Amino acid sequence: MSKGILAVDNRGKRELGADKLVGWDEVTQGIVLTSFEGDAANIASLKAEERTYSDFNSYTATVASWRVIKPIYNRDICIDCQNCWVWCPDSSIISRDKQMLGIDYDHCKGCQVCVEVCPTNPKSLLMFVEAEEIETALAQWPEKKKN
Ligand code: SF4
Ligand code: SF4
Repeated sequence: MSKGILAVDNRGKRELGADKLVGWDEVTQGIVLTSFEGDAANIASLKAEERTYSDFNSYTATVASWRVIKPIYNRDICIDCQNCWVWCPDSSIISRDKQMLGIDYDHCKGCQVCVEVCPTNPKSLLMFVEAEEIETALAQWPEKKKN
């Protein structure tokens, strides 16, 4: 389901440093870098993937190449408590209508905060090496721990 969301928006379309944007050392005093294209007066009422991001907005850049470990999500155990969504420092948990949908791997930094705050037993999010396949990770998910 999260793949559908990612497919229709412009999230992570640009690799940092791979284009001709003005560099940090070329920015002059008084320059204005707008986060959105056009009128942004009602931007807060739109879902993230519906907003008209400018090329200067970090939403359009991917930083996934920085990550060496990644969280993998197990829908079968999740109770949709939204803890991971609240605590993720990079807004990389995708949730709609209070239902956890998945992880935005274009912006996730692999910090593990989401795993730490997940309350289920076993956890519904676990960290794996970056190259791990999701299906392989799900197949080796730990069993419930007895108290
Ligand atoms: S690992 Fe960190 S950045 Fe990635 S989804 Fe979890 S809390 Fe967010
Ligand atoms: S913290 Fe864990 S149980 Fe709660 S929504 Fe996130 S993945 Fe699901």
